[in-house]
Amino acid sequence: MIMHEVLIVGGGLAGLMAALSAAEKADVAVLSKLYPTRSHSGAAQGGFNAVMGEEDSVEAHIFDTVKGSDYLGDQDAIEVLCSDGPEVILELERLGVPWTRSPGGGIAQRPLGGAGFPRACFAADFSGHVVLHILYEQALRRRIKIYPEWRLIELLVEDGRVAGVLAYDLARAKTEVIRSKVVVLATGGYGRAFAKTTNAIANTGDGMAIAYRAGAVLADMEFVQFHPTTLYGTNILISEAARGEGGYLRNAGGTRFMADYAPQKMELAPRDLVSRAIFREIKEGRGYEGKYVHLDLTHLGEALVAERLPQVRDLSMRYAGVDPAVAPMPIEPAQHYSMGGVRTGVWGESSLPGLLAAGEVANVSVHGANRLGGNSLLETVVFGRRAGRRAAELAGKEPWPVLSKTTAARSLESWSSMFSDGKQIVQEDSTFLIREAATSIMTSQVGVFRVGDELADAVEKLKELKKRYKELDPPREAQPFNYALMEYLETGYILDLCEIIAGGALRRTESRGAHYRLDYPRRDDLNWLGHTLARRGENGPEFSSGPVKITRYQPQERGY
Ligand SMILES: Cc1cc2nc3c(=O)[nH]c(=O)nc-3n(C[C@H](O)[C@H](O)[C@H](O)COP(=O)(O)OP(=O)(O)OC[C@H]3O[C@@H](n4cnc5c(N)ncnc54)[C@H](O)[C@@H]3O)c2cc1C
Repeated sequence: MIMHEVLIVGGGLAGLMAALSAAEKADVAVLSKLYPTRSHSGAAQGGFNAVMGEEDSVEAHIFDTVKGSDYLGDQDAIEVLCSDGPEVILELERLGVPWTRSPGGGIAQRPLGGAGFPRACFAADFSGHVVLHILYEQALRRRIKIYPEWRLIELLVEDGRVAGVLAYDLARAKTEVIRSKVVVLATGGYGRAFAKTTNAIANTGDGMAIAYRAGAVLADMEFVQFHPTTLYGTNILISEAARGEGGYLRNAGGTRFMADYAPQKMELAPRDLVSRAIFREIKEGRGYEGKYVHLDLTHLGEALVAERLPQVRDLSMRYAGVDPAVAPMPIEPAQHYSMGGVRTGVWGESSLPGLLAAGEVANVSVHGANRLGGNSLLETVVFGRRAGRRAAELAGKEPWPVLSKTTAARSLESWSSMFSDGKQIVQEDSTFLIREAATSIMTSQVGVFRVGDELADAVEKLKELKKRYKELDPPREAQPFNYALMEYLETGYILDLCEIIAGGALRRTESRGAHYRLDYPRRDDLNWLGHTLARRGENGPEFSSGPVKITRYQPQERGY
């Protein structure tokens, strides 16, 4: 049996950062369904927010984040995020990250949405890619054991404590039990639960669903971020950096319509606001072909576009056939980020002993109801590092948890029984059909604008889809690289999460941040200034409310 004191699941920024910090004191391994450098973190373009100059202040970063979160973010966690930020940026530089420089030779910073200051540190528009590769090299240098293309299947819980995992090695088509003292989940978001998303194919929320099935509490799942600027049709992200560098949004009349929605911040208002503005323009007949608006960089000049936004340019030329230095890009909003996730404290500890989480899979609640651009990359490294430290500390003082033969055997048995014959299947139905139906429902009924009866209908339809899913015959496990089986499993995770997202959205009868109810268009602090907590019950998720930590800033109306 494989044993590691600390097992990190996920090889993106949060996972690798956790691994590097835990490896200082404990035996660590990283299990990742993708080869680590292929993680979605590598697609991030815009940058990492942190206060580096004297004109900016940590206080201002905290306030922008609290306000951006529509007062649902936990202020103690936000304080950690913003205070640790500068130190972590410098640590990354020492590890080898070549941050883009300012003319004076310091670390350059660009403005992203919702920030009162140019605060995002970047490496051209390849920020995530560059940092991911540096962290991976450092992990190799420290000889951290990596299990690439191994999947977490189940958390093994003994006496209410996580004692290891059941994992699946895709190349050998083989399951393995791995014992550990601490498991750190860093499995990223669930973007693929929506038909229109900027997220990579692998972002299916596995960690959230697996933690939920094992009994962990998920929080604020109804808060889903929609990014305002994705290429029309393909939904490939056009980074906020494009607006940070001065891009304009224009409707079919050529008007910079953000003047009507956020006269001060204009294009750099927070994402929830800009996404709604774009949808409204399109809905009210001011879009191109009734479907999209323009993101216009043509006034910035070719030199700036080539130097600061080379990836944006390349993506737009390849996937929309438009060179943004000379013509505007057609764009529409799409799902982008998971604000909700496994509820944790500021050291990554979840409600399930032995289980920590960091990065997009976690909800330490620094983003509350709406994340600001540049705060997520920062979250992955700040809280990845903290979770790694806490994991090593726990591993140093706690004995190996008991993992009985019965628990391991039960888990293996339930895995094999999945493939046992006996289902009288009419294979007209398929994973693909079910997934397509679920993700379309999410985009059309649980999207940027929500309304009670459509949400109720979505919840019912998702239940039906879950029933259909249970009737499917899973693809046999015997072949190596059985992606049909992986897709089957991922569809199961997505269905669990959709039920929680839609159920939470139906329950929350107010509008806050990214959650906008046409039938309850106002924020309602009296009844809803609280986190939504979801636990797995007998018949689906059971919801309750938890307090928001408010330390410095009392809720105010949010204007931009
Ligand atoms: C296109 C795009 C651009 C973005 N740009 C920015 C930006 O400029 N600034 C910003 O702040 N944020 C940005 N974000 C958000 C940010 O990049 C992500 O939130 C962040 O990178 C997530 O990092 P992570 O380490 O939590 O997860 P990921 O990088 O998604 O990594 C998840 C890891 O978990 C592993 N995994 C998943 N499931 C399993 C399983 N079942 N078993 C084993 N391993 C598993 C995967 O292999 C992967 O290694 C962007 C996001 C997207 C999609």
